Amino acid sequence: MKRPENASHNQTTASPTTGRSAGTALSVDLTTMERVQAMVLGWYAAHARRFVWRVPNPDPYVVLVSETMLQQTQTARIQEKLPLFLRQYPDFSALAATDNATIIRAWQGMGYNNRALRLRDCARAVIERFGGLLPDTADDLRSLPGLGPYTASAILSFAFHRDVVVLDVNIRRLYSRLFLQLTTTREVMPEPLLVHVAGEVYPRGRSSEWHQACMDIAAQYCTARAPRCLFCPITKACRSAFRMAEATPPHVSEPSHRGKPNRIWRGRIVELLRGLPSDQTIGLAELKSLLFPAEDETDGPWLERIVAALERDGLVDRGEAANGIRLRS
Ligand code: SF4
Repeated sequence: MKRPENASHNQTTASPTTGRSAGTALSVDLTTMERVQAMVLGWYAAHARRFVWRVPNPDPYVVLVSETMLQQTQTARIQEKLPLFLRQYPDFSALAATDNATIIRAWQGMGYNNRALRLRDCARAVIERFGGLLPDTADDLRSLPGLGPYTASAILSFAFHRDVVVLDVNIRRLYSRLFLQLTTTREVMPEPLLVHVAGEVYPRGRSSEWHQACMDIAAQYCTARAPRCLFCPITKACRSAFRMAEATPPHVSEPSHRGKPNRIWRGRIVELLRGLPSDQTIGLAELKSLLFPAEDETDGPWLERIVAALERDGLVDRGEAANGIRLRS
């Protein structure tokens, strides 16, 4: 196992301040770190999940598309949709040339349609500013539309095999449980400590493999609500194994209508418009009756606001006529 580059990496110590763990010192020596690395990578060599986007030297374009899809869509759905999407949009040029309505139709079944538009805008920026080649520095990647810190680091690691930290919600959860002695499934390591640990723990030269392995373990064993410690490949190294009581995550309220979040309704509206022939539009009243066969007086004003928001986001056009709602072309 390759030793971390910085000599100070042989001992990492800090004081987390999670709720009930406050004051517990975190100390992970190099031997423990190397043991964890061997367990994780050994397991991954035999049990890595197989996905169409996971190939030895992936095309950076495919990594960008798959990582964008993975942000809010289940892997099984992406397995099915990614090959179809790549057939329609095999490269940045094809993606950059598409219009809103066409790519929203191609995105069918993926949810969060804004992502499709951001991905297309990103392709246009790659063509205009980088000659059609995805850049390979964090600053350039972060300057592209829709690329946040996670996606930029995932591209650097998975597509360009750079030694970088990749931290998503699953890896945050895994590191928290692995290196702290937690007692409920809700606790997580404080972010500054997580960033520190994440920078220490991954084996240099194997960032891509390591982070994908951690994602697989987190997704299959170290799940948010009910970790499967009995079957987990890193149980013997884990400080929280078999210790955590299930705790319901805090309820995060979001704007809703009739008991469903607005984001679900937005998806339904785009789905209805996607089903229309490309030369057909629909009126607000008709759209309302399709969504709500039994009308409530709050539906009309609410739907006005939702359609206006979809229009602002570039997903729909309302046209001149009262019945002019359609996907934006
Ligand atoms: S042993 Fe349990 S808590 Fe620890 S990483 Fe595995 S599943 Fe998560």
